[in-house]
Amino acid sequence: MRFYQATTFLFPRRYEWRVLFVCFGAVHVPLLACIAYQAATGQWQPTTLLVLLGATLFSTVLGLAAIRALLRPIETATQMLRAVQAGERVGMVPVGNEDLVGRLLHGVSVAANESAPRIERLIETAERDELTGLRNRRGFLDSARRLLAGESNGVLAMVDIDRFKAINDRFGHATGDALLREVALRLENGVRRSDVVGRWGGEEFAILFPDTLLEEAHVVMERLRASIALDPSLRGDEWPVTFSCGIAPVRSFAHLENATRNADGALYAAKNGGRNRVQISKDE
Ligand code: GH3
Ligand code: MG
Ligand code: MG
Repeated sequence: MRFYQATTFLFPRRYEWRVLFVCFGAVHVPLLACIAYQAATGQWQPTTLLVLLGATLFSTVLGLAAIRALLRPIETATQMLRAVQAGERVGMVPVGNEDLVGRLLHGVSVAANESAPRIERLIETAERDELTGLRNRRGFLDSARRLLAGESNGVLAMVDIDRFKAINDRFGHATGDALLREVALRLENGVRRSDVVGRWGGEEFAILFPDTLLEEAHVVMERLRASIALDPSLRGDEWPVTFSCGIAPVRSFAHLENATRNADGALYAAKNGGRNRVQISKDE
């Protein structure tokens, strides 16, 4: 540690540069010694100096490149450890040999494996809605980012339960909660596994249909609307439970915000049109 500390003044934040610098100095020692000797004795031998200079240059380039390459796994291990500490997912940690670097990489691998389930649990908790078990808005957007990577042809549906405040007021918050869970379950069961359902907030849900035509998504949402509206088990004391829905095409993740506005606009139109209906957005 003492030499390490003593050389800190050389590139304080770049350990690899310090190693390269020490290597650079060490490689030049024979050349400098030869020059010093010839200067002291006054017997200059240009050919010897030239050969030594060439050899020094050659070994400098070769030595620095080799040491740089040998330091690279340490750099990789450091980056991976930093990712583990930051709570990020770490990919495959390279396997080293039975040496210092191999042991370091093994240590990183153990740390990454130990923290992986914890990270997954944290992400899961952060992205799930506690009441319904659906993805929350963050989880929905995270899934959407993955599904809408690159150009795609999808549909976004925004669902809002009708007159939910009145249901809460009349039957109590607990009944409202149970209803939210039931509607969430029906929405999730009513779409394909490849579709994503999330609780957008309150009594609003968002559904992403990847690789789906607007008309196909319309049929699915219309079927869901009718099945919920006609289900007697959902009617609390002759109070029909219905939802309104706006749907809009979504072409990429960058376009999702725009699509959300369009679907919201259509949802607003569905509400104004009398509720319990699915409205297709007129905007692209
Ligand atoms: P509209 O048909 O126009 O959508 O009317 P609405 O009553 O559904 O709309 P509004 O936005 O006025 O009310 C939404 C209600 O949803 C108000 C809020 O108390 C209720 N709500 C939001 N989150 C929850 C929840 O987690 N549980 C329960 N029980 N109620 C909730
Ligand atoms: Mg609402
Ligand atoms: Mg509502």
